[in-house]
Amino acid sequence: MTRVTRDMYDQYLVPNYSPAAVIPVRGEGSRIWDQDDRCYIDFAGGIAVNALGHAHPKVVSALQTQAQKLWHLSNVFTNEPALRLAKKLCDATFAEQVYFCNSGGEANEAAFKLARRYSFDQFDSDKNQIISFHDAFHGRTLFTVSVGGQEKYTEGFGPLPGGISHLPFNDVEALGKAINKNTCAVVIEPVQGEGGVTSATPEFLAAARRLCDQHNALLIFDEVQCGMGRTGDLYAYQTFAVVPDILTTAKALGCGFPIGAMLTTEKIAKSLAVGTHGSTYGGNPLACAVAESVIDIINTSEVLEGVVTRRQTMVDGLNTINSKYPMFEEVRGAGLLIGWVLNDKWKGRSREILNQCMSNGLMLLVAGPDVVRFAPSLIITDQEIAEGLQLLEQSINQLYENSLAA
Ligand SMILES: *Cc1c(COP(=O)(O)O)cnc(C)c1O
Repeated sequence: MTRVTRDMYDQYLVPNYSPAAVIPVRGEGSRIWDQDDRCYIDFAGGIAVNALGHAHPKVVSALQTQAQKLWHLSNVFTNEPALRLAKKLCDATFAEQVYFCNSGGEANEAAFKLARRYSFDQFDSDKNQIISFHDAFHGRTLFTVSVGGQEKYTEGFGPLPGGISHLPFNDVEALGKAINKNTCAVVIEPVQGEGGVTSATPEFLAAARRLCDQHNALLIFDEVQCGMGRTGDLYAYQTFAVVPDILTTAKALGCGFPIGAMLTTEKIAKSLAVGTHGSTYGGNPLACAVAESVIDIINTSEVLEGVVTRRQTMVDGLNTINSKYPMFEEVRGAGLLIGWVLNDKWKGRSREILNQCMSNGLMLLVAGPDVVRFAPSLIITDQEIAEGLQLLEQSINQLYENSLAA
């Protein structure tokens, strides 16, 4: 067989991504090996997906066990893993009912459609306006990308769905002015991930809750990135103590197996009556069996409390490096969604930092040109953190030397 090479990407795949030069072939915990058996420490976590690292034995076993029983039935039938997972999600949250799909974008698509449909059923067809925020990210379907707050992602894809407006994030006054009787939903990422690892303020979330109640609008939390233990609670709404009407979850829910879910109350869910919405693979037994094992592991005090201590270790390590080689002005985010905001000297250079780290064997992420992002496994070991921070220091030292030489 001919060797698989990175060149094949440029030949056979549409050019919408720009993947790294190396091809990873296996992983274990927070270590990954490429085709040449070179090892990398993983602070990227598959963009907040691999919350239990790679090849977690219990998750692998859940997939293998289910693979020998049933892969697919269609929604003509229900199945045991889906029923058990739905109950677990409801028992652990405000939710009373769940809709399953395959991705974060689909979970948000369902949430936005439900908000419109619920307002149509309960009020009138003019109540269809959705309020979202600058730099928000909600997915890549035409509806979700239009609700998202980065214009570059919708350019050239019009005509776009209407009835959507964007406000400055964390601006209580702007929200108070914009919301009205025709607003059907306000959509918030409690911690903006793609947009720069920016936390909502508790006052902003509390005000959004109050304003939605005043105007009979639904409050939707997109927890696709910041949910599933990332903030140190199962969901970020619990960390912030503000309860939404609809919550979307995906990414770490399957730890790498595609699954998404929309959580809501029974009253609101009524608007998704038979035939109104659906998905061929939504509630697929394989995906649900995996997610069940994931939630059993993550929703324990051991893992959730570990998030808080691991954040502290990583932030302390970052600050120590920064005192030797000043590079960032602020560490932000919540739990193990960590963003470091580059200082004036390094602004715009997050990609260069990522590349330097990669060449030394450390995987990390950026969130725009000015922010470097970590979204590691929630159970990354002290040893893996220490090795990763050492590689980071080495990389930053090299960048400093290069910029002195230049
Ligand atoms: C990743 C992400 C999405 C989109 O999820 P997909 O599974 O890629 O469709 C939506 N919202 C947020 C906050 C995300 O981080």
